[in-house]
Amino acid sequence: MTMTADATVFEHVPCALCGADDPDPLAWLDDLRFGTLPFPLQLVACRRCGFRYLTPQPRPGCEQAFYPDEYDPYHRTSLTACARRILLRREVHALWPLLAPPRRILEVGCATGELLQVIREAGNPDVVGLEPEPTAAETARARGLTVLTGTLATVQFAPGSFDVVLLQHVLEHLAEPRRALEQIRLLLRPGGSVIIWVPNGASWAATVFGDAWMGYDPPRHRSVFTPATLRQLLAETGFTVLEEHHEWHGLEWAWGLRLLARRAGAHRLERSLARFHLPLILLATPVAALAALARRSGRIRLIARRRPSDAQAMR
Ligand SMILES: [Zn+2]
Repeated sequence: MTMTADATVFEHVPCALCGADDPDPLAWLDDLRFGTLPFPLQLVACRRCGFRYLTPQPRPGCEQAFYPDEYDPYHRTSLTACARRILLRREVHALWPLLAPPRRILEVGCATGELLQVIREAGNPDVVGLEPEPTAAETARARGLTVLTGTLATVQFAPGSFDVVLLQHVLEHLAEPRRALEQIRLLLRPGGSVIIWVPNGASWAATVFGDAWMGYDPPRHRSVFTPATLRQLLAETGFTVLEEHHEWHGLEWAWGLRLLARRAGAHRLERSLARFHLPLILLATPVAALAALARRSGRIRLIARRRPSDAQAMR
């Protein structure tokens, strides 16, 4: 593998939070889940602001090779699809005061449209999806949803078109999270909200599992947010955080054990853990609930409201 070959796919990037190019190396990360990386990538912390991110990263436009056909948001087994549907219904129920009609909702990176479908079934049909992966977008359209193939950079919406924008485990995938939030702010009506789900790099699970933590997921995840860094980015892009919720299901603990076994080359142990994946999730739930109580869950959801223009931080 030559440097020339690397440079066509990967590029060195500065900190997406403060723009500094002063990285402190923390760890080398492998793609433990799907094995798409020819070599490990470096996880770094910005020396100026502490933000953690991958560098080098896949160049924008070169991501597709790192999303294999079996990438789960695009392809779920019937059992995980069913479990996910139950969790999404619970989530939509909790968020219903924000999602109820007559609000118009956009989900950025909607994959196959599972969340939008649950919102529509709950009683709000005014939902639109945006998804860059053509096959996933087509699956979403086959559910009868309005889904455009593209990204915030390629699809134009009129300013102020939406009351709520959803980013469910999407922001950490984006090369330019700051620009994405600036664009979303323009798409929202005054007083509109953005709801963001991300892995939490300041979680107990991130500490326990180290480089096998599922929240790193390189190179698909470019940024490692914490409540502090996500709040900073939201404040700087014109939002006021209303709520920070810590999820408490055991998924990341079950996956953490599997990825630890995989990294150690313990294939028989990993197969056993895979066989008992669902019971492990249930067994880990008390730990996950404790982490959520301590506000150290590995999966968080922030709700933030668009501030009026005059109050927007100038950058
Ligand atoms: Zn920085």
